[in-house]
Amino acid sequence: MNRTTLVRLSGAALFLLGSWAAYTQNPPPAGPLTVNKVKDGLYEIVGDGGNVAVYVTGEGVIMIDDKYEQDYAPIVEKVKSVTSQPIKYIINTHHHADHSGGNVKFAPTVEIISTANARANIVEKKQPNAPADMTPARITFTDETSVFLGGKEVRAKYFGRGHTNGDAVIYFPALKTIHTGDLMAGTSPLIDYPGGGSLVEWTKTLDGAMKLDFDTVIPGHGNVTDKAGLLKYRDNVEKLRTRMQGLVRAGKTQAEVAQVLQSEYGWAPDSLPMKWSLPGIMNELK
Ligand SMILES: [Zn+2]
Repeated sequence: MNRTTLVRLSGAALFLLGSWAAYTQNPPPAGPLTVNKVKDGLYEIVGDGGNVAVYVTGEGVIMIDDKYEQDYAPIVEKVKSVTSQPIKYIINTHHHADHSGGNVKFAPTVEIISTANARANIVEKKQPNAPADMTPARITFTDETSVFLGGKEVRAKYFGRGHTNGDAVIYFPALKTIHTGDLMAGTSPLIDYPGGGSLVEWTKTLDGAMKLDFDTVIPGHGNVTDKAGLLKYRDNVEKLRTRMQGLVRAGKTQAEVAQVLQSEYGWAPDSLPMKWSLPGIMNELK
């Protein structure tokens, strides 16, 4: 095993460990958050939960995702470190608690938007062990919506199923930048079948997003990348699907497929991907 493979594998393991912790009922204490400049007027807040995007306009801030409830105060502090403008809108990329958990604290003062499916998934408690006070968006859309503020636009678009059945891709047209939510996260896709996810649809959904005119990508988890980085991720999703389909159609048992996921993809036994994705893979790829 060469060094690159090792680094990639440990990255995957870290992400899987992180997501495992991320979805348990009592998340670890909020770690330190960091704010990075992505482009002029656009920042990301990383650490704990999913990557938050902060778009500053002359009339307020539009934010993408809000991590866990426990991250509310640190997020507000990080936004204050880059602008004195108030947070006016939050767009949730999907219903998971590491992306929408902060809604409960922001809802009294901020307008929150998501896909209709992401809202329904919160209302119907589709995420096992999500905190009891998960708060859904007040405003929803099914295909596309935009927020116009201070002469700037943020567009949110639903391209189809993937990580869940309600993933929004967020587009900042003036900056040629997108935020993918967990349609790109870590190194190996987590297919949330109970939340409507689909390994078969995932690549088609990313193909839709690839048609946007962008050069910079903020993933749901992990480092900012570019269009080539997203394409590579998409191709890896396809490779996983092809590999899984071959095994399932060859009549392999769930336990045998689990072995392959463990040895070739670093999915730990009893990890979240094994629990959420494997039974759905066996069913969807028949
Ligand atoms: Zn997620």
